[in-house]
Amino acid sequence: LSGEFNLIYQHIAPLAGSRGDVVLGIGDDGAVIQPQLGTQVVVALDTLVAGRHFFVGQDAADIAYKALAVNLSDLAAMGATPKWALLSLALPVSCATKQWLEQFMRGWSELAQQYDVVLIGGDTTYSDTLTVSVTLMGEVVTGQAITRSGARVGDDIWLSGCIGDAGFALSQLLAAREVEANLARRLHRPTARVALGLSLTGLATAAIDVSDGLLADLGHILKASNVGAVLNLENILFSEAVSQWVDISGWENPLTSGDDYELLFSANHQNSAAIRALAQQQGVPLRRIGVVLQVEQGVKVIKNGSEQPIPTRRGFDHFASTDIIKTS
Ligand code: ADP
Ligand code: MG
Repeated sequence: LSGEFNLIYQHIAPLAGSRGDVVLGIGDDGAVIQPQLGTQVVVALDTLVAGRHFFVGQDAADIAYKALAVNLSDLAAMGATPKWALLSLALPVSCATKQWLEQFMRGWSELAQQYDVVLIGGDTTYSDTLTVSVTLMGEVVTGQAITRSGARVGDDIWLSGCIGDAGFALSQLLAAREVEANLARRLHRPTARVALGLSLTGLATAAIDVSDGLLADLGHILKASNVGAVLNLENILFSEAVSQWVDISGWENPLTSGDDYELLFSANHQNSAAIRALAQQQGVPLRRIGVVLQVEQGVKVIKNGSEQPIPTRRGFDHFASTDIIKTS
């Protein structure tokens, strides 16, 4: 146990950060935080497991960066300002070293400092499989959180950035092929659209971050909002590498592969000028990729004016091939 305390107090706590709204951070049985008056706290948790969400032996700084980034992305999709994090580390012996933890905290603090996220506590245990779990809390003005359920018939559907880069990088790595550094970075160190998410409060009617595949995540908005949608493939932005991937293996690949961490949102058509202005200000590409339809119309994908068959596998699903837990 003294080893556990050494790990925490020598390598984690010094890089935790601090801010006035953290009344009590690492070191007690619980942390005490002080949200601002007139705000609500938005909470999200995401877990990364070695061999499932990242490669065994992956750079510890990348693992930490990604574990925080995927949670930043969830808060961005809610329109929240990220503030406080909890970190659960289940470490195999090979990772319970000074070198590994220093490297992990380097990746963590690089991203945490960028958004002024304070690490206020966590838990450290032993496990055969390296598992990193982050809980991130943030603030929204009371009542302003963007949810999945607000999309209305006739709304435009918007997408930030380009999708498929991480999926393409992963497919190449799994095939033991070389991947360009910028594409590998899209997989290992994704960019959460934090500033964009904040600006979307009051503009977007619904939002989600694209983590499991565009079609799957669009499906979540449609289900929660009880609507349908039509997407125009020509309006979806792809990088050059992904455009080639599409030419060779079909459009379904980038629309069903995971780890994009772009924002998909709906908005009233009246807001389109304001949304285009946001794209300019923030230097983030925003494309109007579709329109919300009535629920009876389901999901349609249009390519060069003709409707495409929708793939049955719409995105990444951990339990898709098990009988124990059936997701629909
Ligand atoms: P307890 O036994 O009371 O749960 P712990 O011994 O687990 O306390 O942790 C001691 C302190 O260190 C707590 O404040 C806890 O939040 C913090 N802590 C433990 N592990 C981590 C971690 N991986 N990251 C950040 N803080 C941690
Ligand atoms: Mg504990």
